[in-house]
Amino acid sequence: MMMDAKTAVITGGSRGIGRAVALALSEQGANIAILYGGNVQAAEQTCAVIAQKGVKVKAYACDVSDFSACEHTIGKILEEFGQVDILVNCAGITADNLCMRMKEDEFDRVIDVNLKGTFNMIRHLSAHMMRRRYGRIINFSSVMGIMGNAGQANYAASKGGIIALTKSVAKELAARGVTANAIAPGFIETDMTSKLSDKLKEEYVAHIPAKRVGKPEEVAQLVLFLASDAAAYITGAVIPIDGGISM
Ligand code: NAP
Repeated sequence: MMMDAKTAVITGGSRGIGRAVALALSEQGANIAILYGGNVQAAEQTCAVIAQKGVKVKAYACDVSDFSACEHTIGKILEEFGQVDILVNCAGITADNLCMRMKEDEFDRVIDVNLKGTFNMIRHLSAHMMRRRYGRIINFSSVMGIMGNAGQANYAASKGGIIALTKSVAKELAARGVTANAIAPGFIETDMTSKLSDKLKEEYVAHIPAKRVGKPEEVAQLVLFLASDAAAYITGAVIPIDGGISM
């Protein structure tokens, strides 16, 4: 299979898009290490499904915003899996508010989890990937990181930052066989978007050229391609997957 003998680390791999990514990679034979925030039940349930594919799988509770916790968890993963070939930075949160009303901790927490969390993981895995002269880093941005969004200044800033972080890392690692790319999804049906009211969803869908929301499995197929050997010459790219809304 395409991912035989590869190991993938997926932050936020217990639920939503990250879960679909973990399933898609495991279906192609990759061993899977999942990082999750606090929902043990979701992590265990996802691991049980992945274990049925006959690959190695383990979930680690690790707050990606914590620099030392990421270092410790990556150390454990390297001990238990021996290597990491693919890093998917999918953990993300929202705390929406108009900028004029946004609390300091709403801004800080979203930046810390989304942007610093992505940095933390890359920081602690890039030397390993450079030494092996192989690696695939796939970071989750968002169309909001390209377009901005009223009520999401913190989230959009974190996702715009991920684009700049991805391009910088891509430049640093390209000569060592390590690629770094960003995916910018539009509206994808997960727990994150289920918080929105039906009215808001309808208004949003009306603006999507494809006239529908996306599925986590559709995003997972893009990650699968970027993680494959076929994508060796793609680096520093920002790829929207959004039914055309960012056009
Ligand atoms: P989701 O369903 O809410 O799942 C979020 C995942 O991130 C969960 O596995 C969660 O684990 C984990 N997580 C949250 N905070 C964490 C932390 N501090 N440390 C470690 N893990 C943490 O989200 P989603 O909709 O699948 O989104 C996945 C990614 O795609 C995010 O980066 C999001 O910004 C991006 N995105 C989503 C959409 C969309 O429409 N859904 C659009 C554009 C971009 P626990 O359950 O244990 O907390």
